Amino acid sequence: MDSNGGGEVCRILRELKTLKASKSDIERRISDLEAQLRELNLNNGTVVPNGSSCTLMSTVDSGFGHGLSADMIYRYSRQLLIPSFGVQAQSNLLKSSILVVGAGGLGSPALLYLAACGVGRLGIVDHDVVELNNMHRQIIHTEAYIGQPKVKSAAASCRSINSTIQIVEHKEALCASNALEILSKYDIIVDATDNAPSRYMISDCCVVLGKPLVSGAAVGLEGQLTVYNYNGGPCYRCLFPTPPPTTACQRCSDSGVLGVVPGVIGVLQALETIKIAAAVGEPLSGRMLLFDALSARIRIVKIRGRSLQCEVCGENTAFTQKQFSEFDYENFTQSPLSTSPLKLNLLPADSRISSKEFKERIVNGEANVLVDVRPPHHYKIVSLPGSVNIPLSRLESRLPEISSFLNETKERKALNPDSVPSLYVICRRGNDSQRAVQLLHKMGFTIAKDIIGGLESWAQDVDQNFPTY
Ligand SMILES: [Zn+2]
Repeated sequence: MDSNGGGEVCRILRELKTLKASKSDIERRISDLEAQLRELNLNNGTVVPNGSSCTLMSTVDSGFGHGLSADMIYRYSRQLLIPSFGVQAQSNLLKSSILVVGAGGLGSPALLYLAACGVGRLGIVDHDVVELNNMHRQIIHTEAYIGQPKVKSAAASCRSINSTIQIVEHKEALCASNALEILSKYDIIVDATDNAPSRYMISDCCVVLGKPLVSGAAVGLEGQLTVYNYNGGPCYRCLFPTPPPTTACQRCSDSGVLGVVPGVIGVLQALETIKIAAAVGEPLSGRMLLFDALSARIRIVKIRGRSLQCEVCGENTAFTQKQFSEFDYENFTQSPLSTSPLKLNLLPADSRISSKEFKERIVNGEANVLVDVRPPHHYKIVSLPGSVNIPLSRLESRLPEISSFLNETKERKALNPDSVPSLYVICRRGNDSQRAVQLLHKMGFTIAKDIIGGLESWAQDVDQNFPTY
């Protein structure tokens, strides 16, 4: 491209950046003003549509005995026209309050549909900020909100769809000490989180408060959905009295997810919530829906009913609100409540080196072998030049390969007969590499060292252009 063309591109990029910044600023101001207006209306005991006109009368009960105003009748007309739904269900919905825990992949579609369908009050709990790698599945957020709290972004989207309902923002991490207070303000709870301690905590809290829980999960290309603690049905602990083994969830090679899969499950969570709130149909209690995206199959299986021996909802349980608020869910599940990745520290300091130090050694021409222990599909995304891929799960059976790489490097670099090349291990974030080094030490490769923080640290401290995922 000629220099003029380059200048033009720069000018357009600059203008785009400025416009995007003002767009995000304007959206924030709209959302603040709408919140102020709602506050004033609540205090005055009147309801004004959050549009430009203040046509008070249009939102007041139209006087037909169902509590729906003319505006509501028009807005929700397609739902009112369903014979098995109608004004009664809509009126029930408008009186309901729903809390969605997590404004991520499941929470995004659930929140959008719950806002759109006209629930009375919609609460959102999340402590995280919007990131670029959320965009493929967390469709409630837009690029303009990257770096801002998810709660703000999600609330703004919900308000832009339906400004007549009350949206409550809880910008905090849900934990045992605040869960009772937050959940008690709502009729129905939607679990749209993605970790074991949160699942147990939210389910237990729903049991002690007597609230139905609409629970969803999605990983990879599969999802599942059920309703807990509803009409005598089981709670999460009835089904899973003991937490799953933690090793699978503590690896730094997290499982991926195709964006549309939590989308499907999140939409179904909204549907089950609407059925409970509106008192229509048969909510998915005592049954579990299993979704397999690749085979395009949805199965509904019967699950066990409430367990009399359940520690939380069983016959002789003494699990009270006080016990709940003091229960250590992280310890119980051996995994963190927060979504921030786990950082293990399994090795002595002299068995680890920083990514910067590793880079210096390469620059100084040190003879070494670098083993990347991530799964092959991770290695294909991005890898360091000269590294060899031996996944952690195969390491033990492929030790002879490491010996031959070491010998080959020794010959190539023409080392003294009594010196050996260095052996380094790397992974995505530096947890699996430590496990690998532990194993290598045990198997006689005592020179093996772990690169602290893995490829993420390389991208952060050595090469900022190195892709992260
Ligand atoms: Zn139970």
